[in-house]
Amino acid sequence: MSQPLFSQDFKLTPYWWERSPRSQGNNPALPKSADVVIIGSGYTGLSAAIQTANIGLDTVVLDAVHAGWGCSSRNGGQVDSGIKPSYKQLKQKYGHARALALLQEGVNAFNWVKSYTTENHIDCDFKQVGRFVGAHNPAALDGFRKDIINSPHELEVNARIIEPQDTASEVGSTHYHGGMVLPRYASIDPGRYHAGLLKHAQRLGVTVVSHCPATGTKKNKHGVLVRTPRKDIQAKQVLVATSGYTSQATPWQRKRIIPIGSYMIATEPLPEGLLQQLIVNNRVVTDSRKVIVYFRQCPEGKRMLFGGRVSLNETNPRLSGPALHRMMVELFPALQSAKISHSWMGYVGYTFDDLPHLGQHQGVHYAMGYCGSGIALSSYFGMRIGQQLAGNPEGACAFDGLNFQNRFYYRGNPWFLAPSLFYYRWRDAQHSSVTTAKNNKT
Ligand SMILES: Cc1cc2nc3c(=O)[nH]c(=O)nc-3n(C[C@H](O)[C@H](O)[C@H](O)COP(=O)(O)OP(=O)(O)OC[C@H]3O[C@@H](n4cnc5c(N)ncnc54)[C@H](O)[C@@H]3O)c2cc1C
Repeated sequence: MSQPLFSQDFKLTPYWWERSPRSQGNNPALPKSADVVIIGSGYTGLSAAIQTANIGLDTVVLDAVHAGWGCSSRNGGQVDSGIKPSYKQLKQKYGHARALALLQEGVNAFNWVKSYTTENHIDCDFKQVGRFVGAHNPAALDGFRKDIINSPHELEVNARIIEPQDTASEVGSTHYHGGMVLPRYASIDPGRYHAGLLKHAQRLGVTVVSHCPATGTKKNKHGVLVRTPRKDIQAKQVLVATSGYTSQATPWQRKRIIPIGSYMIATEPLPEGLLQQLIVNNRVVTDSRKVIVYFRQCPEGKRMLFGGRVSLNETNPRLSGPALHRMMVELFPALQSAKISHSWMGYVGYTFDDLPHLGQHQGVHYAMGYCGSGIALSSYFGMRIGQQLAGNPEGACAFDGLNFQNRFYYRGNPWFLAPSLFYYRWRDAQHSSVTTAKNNKT
């Protein structure tokens, strides 16, 4: 490890785990049976469990590691409405009404997290600070202008353009050609949000069993048998909520999820006032590149939290840390001497149509595939699928019945990732003053 880059207390665990230490509490025994068994204890799994337990269904949540170990305690804490394809793309495929309904669910998802955290007094630093999206070249800024004009008025996107000469009013970096502000988006402490969901679920009587991977499921006359190395558990209903960590335990879902690593660093506390010059309005920030970077201040306003994709193939957070640091310093030379205190990664669940999916296959429910923008979507999809499990008609959602596509050439190993990223990086680099870090040792 090169010495000057890492702080003395450097850790290979998420910064968020400092603010919400991982529970070392008693791990409950695995019951023989339950009304509902949920595989995966992130936002999706817990949001569903809250719905089923709330109407008195005996609910068990399993996690292969510990509660919230996946993306839900590792993410960048940027809360948006999350649907990746544009209105134009969705309209071409599904027509105006369905396109609008799908996009509206993204807005509903954002509103759901906002009202859930407020009404339940979840102490998670939810702040509607807005997002700045930097344009990496002039064409990207034109693209933002068109997106704003073409966006259907029903959605009230409420975005505004930042002209190139005004970039400094948003970020202290000379690399962007203006950008776009989305004032409704928010920042959150993802670990604390997860801890709040966990407490709520446990208060309602949900049994959360850690270190208990599901290894398979089998439909039978009582519902679905879930296999684990400890023993089997008989469920009336099962939900798979494993997103980017979906494994061969649920092969049908595995063939439909593309796990892609996303990497983050936290800096050590920075000199007073420096961050406020770099992220002027304390917004969450991302940019227009296909292979994006994202960054924000930590909730106390002392550290830079910087994330992105550092290499074509997956790598180790010891190596991704320095690569992310280089990318950060390209944008913000003033951070040259800022040391890294934390470096970590997580697997985001992508899908072939860039849309999240929920539904049921052969008696097993699922909700997953939020394509990197899952704080709001996973909470909302979890809540809706939980309502469906609970037999509540309010669980109906515009995504019901959407075909969850796979490809004949894909069995769960994304061999095409490196060439696709190579191509996207090359495209991002055209006419761009923002360059990505050179590939490292993967
Ligand atoms: C570095 C990073 C930055 C991100 N930044 C943002 C952001 O700023 N904004 C945003 O909206 N989204 C972001 N995301 C994405 C977001 O965090 C996820 O979409 C969301 O947390 C998904 O929640 P989930 O509950 O579906 O899955 P997860 O939180 O990943 O939970 C899945 C769980 O399933 C468990 N599991 C897997 N297999 C099994 C099994 N067989 N048996 C039992 N348990 C199993 C895993 O251990 C894991 O705990 C980011 C993700 C990463 C990794």
